[in-house]
Amino acid sequence: MKILLVEDEPKVASFLHKGLTEQTHAVDIATDGVTGLRLALSNPYDLLILDNLLPGLSGLDVCRQVRTQNSSVPILMLTALGETDDKIRGLDAGADDYLVKPFAFQELLARIRALVRRRHEGPTGDTVLRLVDLTLDPSRKLVQRAGQPIQLTAREFALLEYLLRNQGRVVSRVDILEQVWETSFDTGSNVIDVYINFLRKKVDKDFTPKLIHTLVGMGYVMREE
Ligand code: CA
Repeated sequence: MKILLVEDEPKVASFLHKGLTEQTHAVDIATDGVTGLRLALSNPYDLLILDNLLPGLSGLDVCRQVRTQNSSVPILMLTALGETDDKIRGLDAGADDYLVKPFAFQELLARIRALVRRRHEGPTGDTVLRLVDLTLDPSRKLVQRAGQPIQLTAREFALLEYLLRNQGRVVSRVDILEQVWETSFDTGSNVIDVYINFLRKKVDKDFTPKLIHTLVGMGYVMREE
């Protein structure tokens, strides 16, 4: 991904630059709002990370101006502790998310993944997903199998949605942790296996054909077999 980071504190900027570059992102840095805005409007970035308190234009001003150009680029605002009103103003100005400093780098990565995923889902995020006689309606949060409604918890729903969006494709536990739990830490627990079992009981146990399959050592796949 190509990321623009607008941050005037050299230590924070170099720490984030190093971390994001290690994640194979290409990162441009601006240290004031005016330069940040100019770069944001003249390059096709995949993500803007804007500190709020900046020389020149504030991060909020940059955000607002980028949005008036009708850009749909994801924007993550950074605010210092004690600037909580800025959270509201940042979201009003068109930011997609915000992080309060100081934050853990892993937290930043999790937010970035969530923002980029949301964007890629785009307008297709609302179409009903189907496999054989199983349907999942993302906008109405409804799941049915063979016409019978199935009650799922929010996490079960998110997991099933992810598996259905990737039907026919083997997804690893790491994929699931990153995409459904929004973390890349393997907690060492068998949380995913537990949730897969919950889903199987609700979605597969009383029906044929079975749709959720385990590939030992590889992960899971949803398909008709
Ligand atoms: Ca600052």
